[in-house]
Amino acid sequence: MADIVLRGVSRVFNGIPAVDDITMTFPEGSVTCLLGPSGCGKTTLMRMIAGLDTPSSGRILFGDRDVTALPARKRNVAMVFQYPVMYRTLSVEQNIALPIRRDRSLDDATRRQRIEDVMDMMQLQDCRDAFMHELDVGTRQRVAVARSIARSCEVVLFDEPTTNVEVNAKLQLIRAFKAFRSRLRQTVVYVTHDQTEAMTLADRIALMQDGRVTQCAAPRTLYDRPESEFGGWFLGNPGMNFLDPAASRDGTISFDAVAAPFRAPPEGSDGVRLGIRPERVGIGTPDGPGVPGRVMRRTITIGGQYLLLVEVGGATLRARAAPGAPFRPGDDVSVLCPIDHMAFFRHGHRLPDQPELLERGHP
Ligand code: ATP
Repeated sequence: MADIVLRGVSRVFNGIPAVDDITMTFPEGSVTCLLGPSGCGKTTLMRMIAGLDTPSSGRILFGDRDVTALPARKRNVAMVFQYPVMYRTLSVEQNIALPIRRDRSLDDATRRQRIEDVMDMMQLQDCRDAFMHELDVGTRQRVAVARSIARSCEVVLFDEPTTNVEVNAKLQLIRAFKAFRSRLRQTVVYVTHDQTEAMTLADRIALMQDGRVTQCAAPRTLYDRPESEFGGWFLGNPGMNFLDPAASRDGTISFDAVAAPFRAPPEGSDGVRLGIRPERVGIGTPDGPGVPGRVMRRTITIGGQYLLLVEVGGATLRARAAPGAPFRPGDDVSVLCPIDHMAFFRHGHRLPDQPELLERGHP
């Protein structure tokens, strides 16, 4: 097994970079999700790691082995695609056995044991004799995963394997994936545009935008401490609120949703915005702490929670409220943005230091 190391990897199509100068390491034995909107370069990057495409520039290493020029079959990589390629005339068991049939490093008993193990992990024992056309899409995808991990590959790559799978089968596939992770420690790169899937499966998420990795971190870190407004916006449902300053003068900067001003950053207030996640915005009765606001709209989300659109001075904020909370459109409320959950950005990038709140009056 090995780290996957990318050094300045780019892929240009018709003069336009699909992957733009990425340098990063996928640590040995970890699961890294490539997450980002459609067209950000996830699949192109994964295809280059697989050896299905060649970088326009840069190097790819597995450990200290430079694989940049090696074709896929020489890289010891397994892949699971959105549309699994399976042999319809073979049973589940035979499909899984196929890639290791000619592996001379395995004796018969080891080979049989390996097949039983991966069928257990992927919960396929009940359908081991079924043919592929008899299975639903989710089960076929579990067979594809089983077949990939049956080979002892250093690296397993997943390209949106759950996209065409219905919700229950998707959960089953995710459970099976976790079972495989608790037993085998291959280096996994998993492409998805589904943030919930990435948050659930990944040790680290590499968030991509316009061919670049904007941040690579543990899921919780990425969510709690996005390094860019894009990260704050893309993660979360809905994403972060962003507020422009209401005023900036005399070395201070203030926002409608915060009672007290902040000391302006040393580089000035130009392009500075405040970000806060909807679930961190506290909404209370008008006599509560914070600043006065008014509920403009209320929608019900999954779990019966309310999502409120609240007007605060010249700004609007989205805020979450518990099921049954007594807030309706037109109600006056108090709005409290806790200082510990504020993030500050300049021209889209997080400020290294949070501006200091100048009055202790802020609760
Ligand atoms: P999706 O989630 O929709 O699959 P993605 O993040 O995987 O998107 P890519 O498929 O890697 O994105 O595509 C990145 C960019 O590169 C897109 O603008 C795409 O049109 C372009 N691209 C990808 N492959 C080719 C190709 N073979 N020729 C020309 N352009 C390409």
